[in-house]
Amino acid sequence: MIDKNTSNIQMESIISLCKRRGFVYQGSDIYGGMAGMYDFGPYGVELLNNIKAQWWKENVQTREDYVGLDSAMFKEPKVWDASGHTSGFSDPLSECKVCNTRIRVDKELAKIGITADEKMSEAAINELFDAHKADIKCPKCGKTDWTPVKAFNLLVKTNMGNFTGLDEQPVYLPGEACQGIYLNFKNIVDTTRMKVPFGIAQIGKAFRNEISPRNFLFRCREFEQADTQYFVKPHENKEAYERIKQERMDWYVRMGIKPENLRFKQHDNLVFYASDAWDIEYNFPSYGFDEIEGIHDRTDYDLSQHTKFSGVDLSYKDPYTGEKYIPWVLETSAGLGRMFLTFISDAYTEDKVGDDMRTVLKLSYDLAPIKVAVFPLLKNKPELVAKSREVYEMLKGRLNCEWDDNGNIGKRYRRQDEIGTPYCVVVDFETLEDNMVTVRDRDTTEQKRVSIDELFATIAPTNA
Ligand code: ATP
Repeated sequence: MIDKNTSNIQMESIISLCKRRGFVYQGSDIYGGMAGMYDFGPYGVELLNNIKAQWWKENVQTREDYVGLDSAMFKEPKVWDASGHTSGFSDPLSECKVCNTRIRVDKELAKIGITADEKMSEAAINELFDAHKADIKCPKCGKTDWTPVKAFNLLVKTNMGNFTGLDEQPVYLPGEACQGIYLNFKNIVDTTRMKVPFGIAQIGKAFRNEISPRNFLFRCREFEQADTQYFVKPHENKEAYERIKQERMDWYVRMGIKPENLRFKQHDNLVFYASDAWDIEYNFPSYGFDEIEGIHDRTDYDLSQHTKFSGVDLSYKDPYTGEKYIPWVLETSAGLGRMFLTFISDAYTEDKVGDDMRTVLKLSYDLAPIKVAVFPLLKNKPELVAKSREVYEMLKGRLNCEWDDNGNIGKRYRRQDEIGTPYCVVVDFETLEDNMVTVRDRDTTEQKRVSIDELFATIAPTNA
């Protein structure tokens, strides 16, 4: 079996597999689709849930110094003033004067090697854009005739309980998932035995009015984030920050990502309150290295801002020394869609079995949507079907298991390879005699005979 050079794999093949095999569908598909929205289909939701479960296990369940949280999406609107989102959460936008296509100016400048500082004023970025816009072609019509750059706020506004339409105060969908963690810092200190340093983890939805949603799940307008915020004593950040950075990188490798496809990248420009910021980047097919997770050293900005805006003192009193301070925050924030795309891209393999090419998702066992598929050799032999149903029923409920009696065995193997099923089990005529089945391994394609009594132990999860 020869592994094809993964660099030859194009994102188009992965997107096509996601659609064809029910992992991901375009949002509102039957209405022509909605930009930046995706729906996770039957295998997609299994993979997504497995990623979340593994992340939760890593960041909450196996830790003594982290607890979990699930906060409400809608928040008092002042929260977004305190966080800086209503005033500063914007991207620089310009529009093609010919065909009205909108671009995100900082990203387009980056493509030609020019860095636009996040802190730049509208005037400064206009000056920079004026100097380079002749080199930026409209992705749709190819012209270079652009409107002046405007700061475009990314928060999605909606209304709630606004029955008259006269209420001036909008509410916002969350621009990021982590704010709920800061809002509950005091609740958690008051109601649990957590003592600084400790962390809070949360998975939650985020919504952003992205100017140009693109690259499939990479940049959407609705997505999920998996965040941890670790609270430390001021200036006691460095060691914990290094530990967290390394732990996050190690997790991706343990989950099966090839180390050569991952790298750290430090931010060139820090927001004014941050003390350090790094991204974990993945080498996506066709797109190249790009961010999957941000790891930010945020000083005392978040809890200080919420103290100021809410009027509630969020400082922490050390129970041993009596010392009072506003903790500093070390954040990890990863998009689940980007993680999904990372895992599926890294697992996507085209190799040769005998004379045939096959597509196989070499997902780790824990992430695979289906762990085992059970096949009767022939579907028109009632005794084979009955025995296979017995095997299937025995496994179902203990493992996520699929039944397939359609087409020849080779085709059934290919179908399971494409969705990343680690094992296929075939019940044949010999099974009726010796109570043994054929177990076929996804990665090696090797087959071995196993007694039904030992089947579960043979294919059981390795680290359940
Ligand atoms: P970018 O520079 O790509 O816009 P960001 O630095 O604004 O991302 P953060 O605000 O730090 O991203 O969000 C944390 C994580 O959330 C990112 O690492 C990414 O995985 C995910 N994320 C952010 N924006 C999007 C989006 N529009 N679609 C999907 N995932 C996103």
